[in-house]
Amino acid sequence: MTSKKERTHSVILECIRCKVAQPEIKVKKEDYDQWADNGRLIQVAMPYLSADEREMLITQLCPNCWEQLYAPEAELKQFNVSFTVKDVMSLPSWRHGNNKKLAEKFLKQHHNLLSESLRDEGKMFLESLVSTWEGPTP
Ligand SMILES: [Zn+2]
Repeated sequence: MTSKKERTHSVILECIRCKVAQPEIKVKKEDYDQWADNGRLIQVAMPYLSADEREMLITQLCPNCWEQLYAPEAELKQFNVSFTVKDVMSLPSWRHGNNKKLAEKFLKQHHNLLSESLRDEGKMFLESLVSTWEGPTP
């Protein structure tokens, strides 16, 4: 029996900054409407959402872009960030394409930062890629 109390409603978002489609967020439809239409505080309407999911619904930004936009400038400078979310999300296609060398260079340069800052699918992509990466030839 499907109750409207269950989290059967999928909210699908595309990040307004990097345009990367985000993993769907499952909510209870009536809770979502309470927030979207009736102005109920999101943490009150949908307490089961993670902080990241709430931020995503409110800002329409993926966690990565949110961090890049709101992280203190000094923090970003420290890492000399030189890649975009799109770069990261396309890593799996590099593995089989002609860009393997580029992917290896990219990973070598950014492995630590990426491992720390990526979440969810991006992190899964990265981990699967890193696990197949043999590293620089001596
Ligand atoms: Zn984004």
